[in-house]
Amino acid sequence: MTVPKPTDGTRWRCTLCGNLTRFDVTRSSKVVEYVHLDLAGEARIEEQEVLSESIESVRCRWCDAADQVELVDRPGAQV
Ligand SMILES: [Zn+2]
Repeated sequence: MTVPKPTDGTRWRCTLCGNLTRFDVTRSSKVVEYVHLDLAGEARIEEQEVLSESIESVRCRWCDAADQVELVDRPGAQV
């Protein structure tokens, strides 16, 4: 099952327990990082560009259901 992606006006809701706020999200992404090392060799990432990103699964923190989310309107969102 593919996970629907929340938009500006929608959010996830667990269809089993109604949880709206806590999820474990497994995401895979391809990212270009600008790594800046200081003279001691300590690395710091100064810029990140996300080339592609996909959500592989969403697990509910309350009832442990995997990929049982639906999109509902956010409070106050314009439909
Ligand atoms: Zn749940």
